[in-house]
Amino acid sequence: MGYKYVDDIGRILTEQLDIVSVISSRVPLKRAGRNYKANCPFHQEKTPSFVVSPERQSYHCFGCGASGNAISFVMSYENLDFLSALESLAEKEGIDLTPYLNKEEFQRPKEELSGYYELNRRAARLFFEEFQKTPSAKEYLLSRGIAERTMRRFGIGYAPAGWDFLVNKLGKALPEDTAQKCGLFAFSEQGKMYDRFRERIIFPIFDVRKRVIGFGGRLMGEDPRAAKYLNSPDTPLFNKSFHLYGLHEAKNHLSPDRQILLVEGYMDVLGLHDKGVPQAVASLGTALTPEQGKLISRYAEEVVIIFDGDEAGQKATIRALEVFRTLPVRVIVVNLPPEDDPDSFVRREGAEGFREYLKQNAKASVEYIIDREAQKSDLQNMAGQQLFLSRVMPLIEQMDASEGRGLYIQKVADYIGVEPRVLTGDWKLRESASAPRASARSENRKYTRHLLGILISEPSIALQMIATPYYQYLSDNWHAFISYLLEHKGYNIQSAIEIFTLEQVEFFEEASKQELSRADMTHWRTLLRYFAQQGVMQQLEELRESSQKSDAQYAEMDRLKKKLSELIRERGRDHGKRQDY
Ligand SMILES: [Zn+2]
Repeated sequence: MGYKYVDDIGRILTEQLDIVSVISSRVPLKRAGRNYKANCPFHQEKTPSFVVSPERQSYHCFGCGASGNAISFVMSYENLDFLSALESLAEKEGIDLTPYLNKEEFQRPKEELSGYYELNRRAARLFFEEFQKTPSAKEYLLSRGIAERTMRRFGIGYAPAGWDFLVNKLGKALPEDTAQKCGLFAFSEQGKMYDRFRERIIFPIFDVRKRVIGFGGRLMGEDPRAAKYLNSPDTPLFNKSFHLYGLHEAKNHLSPDRQILLVEGYMDVLGLHDKGVPQAVASLGTALTPEQGKLISRYAEEVVIIFDGDEAGQKATIRALEVFRTLPVRVIVVNLPPEDDPDSFVRREGAEGFREYLKQNAKASVEYIIDREAQKSDLQNMAGQQLFLSRVMPLIEQMDASEGRGLYIQKVADYIGVEPRVLTGDWKLRESASAPRASARSENRKYTRHLLGILISEPSIALQMIATPYYQYLSDNWHAFISYLLEHKGYNIQSAIEIFTLEQVEFFEEASKQELSRADMTHWRTLLRYFAQQGVMQQLEELRESSQKSDAQYAEMDRLKKKLSELIRERGRDHGKRQDY
């Protein structure tokens, strides 16, 4: 990945662009109320289902599902990678990108970089040919259970013993400056050039565009003075904090849950890939850096940290958890049996066994930290218990009930042998009444989807709703949708686009695709009461917040409170009939 621009260049550019002008200069758009529509450029169609939202600066095709922002549109429409799309857009719209150039990269002419790519490619080729000629090197990987096709796939090579294999084949012909900077050679005090990698299995390191940017080398012989693993130093192409080994493969094999496994070493990535778990990446001989964490979060929704069971591995795990803490990615930790690493485990148990083990042993990050702190602490005495609590309770305090806070409190309580309520008192955890906000939100969303689904498939119910005493308490959004249904004699995406936001229409579409049984259809009254109650509570909240209340407002509040208790009573009866609402 070329870090030519600052990290959030995508966001910076989209803020300066107008998606309507970007798309309309390529595809004719028609105004449709608050949105625009067109025949989708990404699939064949006769009636337009491609919608562009100026409010959200995004597009969505309800036919083929294509969606994104101005940059992703240009990427798909013109078949460009991110960087080229960025530059083509900036050029057409007259936006100057120089202020956002990554300084280091800025000082480097483009041609020079392509020279380094070519040099690395040739070095990788030479190492690869040497590997094919060196049975002992190949034997080493075969003995670790790596099949030949995997070796080829990862371009495994071999750097022979001696000092001048690459010097003779490449180094001598290079300008001195290039030889100094490319990372393949080292220089003696007298200035004599020699091979940096000697008698090592070579793991070429690829960027996500599959270009060789550096090398890792594992010692073959027994030289106690030499490091077991050696990596390229930083070069104009390679900064080890910015790349991950195996990502160029892993990103092409993501499962629907977009999960990436983070392991410790080259051999783990290779071994897992070989046995059918191609989603693994490794940091390059360092603790995970924030840049590597970001890189993972760009491709994955969930990362599973599987480091070795020894103390170093556990420390690295804590460090990685710290890196991921603020990134938009779910984090899971799995401890392997102490005698194993991912490579040895998958060799013995196979891909199925490995996946099963992950499933059985997955710990959320907080659970992992609690277990680890418990092991480190002396929980037999009060001082140790207090220390343990001071380390884990602040983490739990930040959680919501929906994140399983109660379970973690229980777990901590079990460790020190007290009742959970002792802890909640001590640590002044937020009252549970205000805690389940996240779950209330998801409940609300579920019911909204259900009621929308009913109304979309049976619009005549809208008329019946209006006739109920609950209708007046519904929110403005519901009123807007119900009047729309009545006016247009039912829901249809073409008319909806003109009236609602793209986000709302997306939700309507989602709702319309639900499978509703005849029994589901009968629940509209129950749902209506639920939303009426929400509406009343909302109005009450607004009145409560206004600071100087008139008598009329007090009277209105009383009326709403009565209505609320009525609704709650009625919903209580609903509960008797049906468990769901
Ligand atoms: Zn489409």
